[in-house]
Amino acid sequence: MNQLIRYPVNDCYTCVQGEGVQTGVAMVLLRLHGCAVGCPWCDTKETWLMDPDHEVATLAEALGANPRYTHLTADEIVAHIRDHNAGPRWVLVTGGEPAQYDLAPLVAALQEAGYRVAIETSGTEVGHLQAGFDWVCVSPKLNMPGGKEVRLETLTQAHEIKHVVGRSQDITDLEELLAAAQPPATTQICLQPVSTSPKATELCLETVMARGWRLSIQTHKYIGVK
Ligand code: SF4
Repeated sequence: MNQLIRYPVNDCYTCVQGEGVQTGVAMVLLRLHGCAVGCPWCDTKETWLMDPDHEVATLAEALGANPRYTHLTADEIVAHIRDHNAGPRWVLVTGGEPAQYDLAPLVAALQEAGYRVAIETSGTEVGHLQAGFDWVCVSPKLNMPGGKEVRLETLTQAHEIKHVVGRSQDITDLEELLAAAQPPATTQICLQPVSTSPKATELCLETVMARGWRLSIQTHKYIGVK
């Protein structure tokens, strides 16, 4: 196993996937630190900056919603998950923006330990493309303040494209992106109302019914889990 790569881990806990196609599946959520995309409505802004003052020596010190992180090898991550998160058979790698790192050693170690591995990425980085993930969800972040471009090749290799919608222009932007990328017909397209807004929910409902797409609701916000 490749012990050279040490991943910046911000958080790790057992949860139930609240969004998208895998809603309701018990998962270990592994949150890697660092993101330069800059979405204004981001739920995890504490993960954005790699501030050396917030690097800590152990994962126990990093756990929780805070800007602290620690560097771990793939094997150390697997050992922690085995010891502390015994139930789920899925691990969801998220962030931050996890695809900025070479994720192949991490995926291999988790799969070797018997886990299936999913990722959620903004589509602005490609570190996951050859990593062998069992499920890839791209939530394309377009025209964000960080100035990062969505890479079309991330969409053609996605099982799920989950787009956050606040206004009709967001749907137009997605349609243009899909026309440019031409993802396979098996890729599931989900629309997710931004911040569970009622107006955005109505727009998403109308659109998924018109296009034969899928609605993604942030169910974890309704049932009180993070
Ligand atoms: S890509 Fe994800 S972590 Fe990064 S700013 Fe956007 S929502 Fe937040």
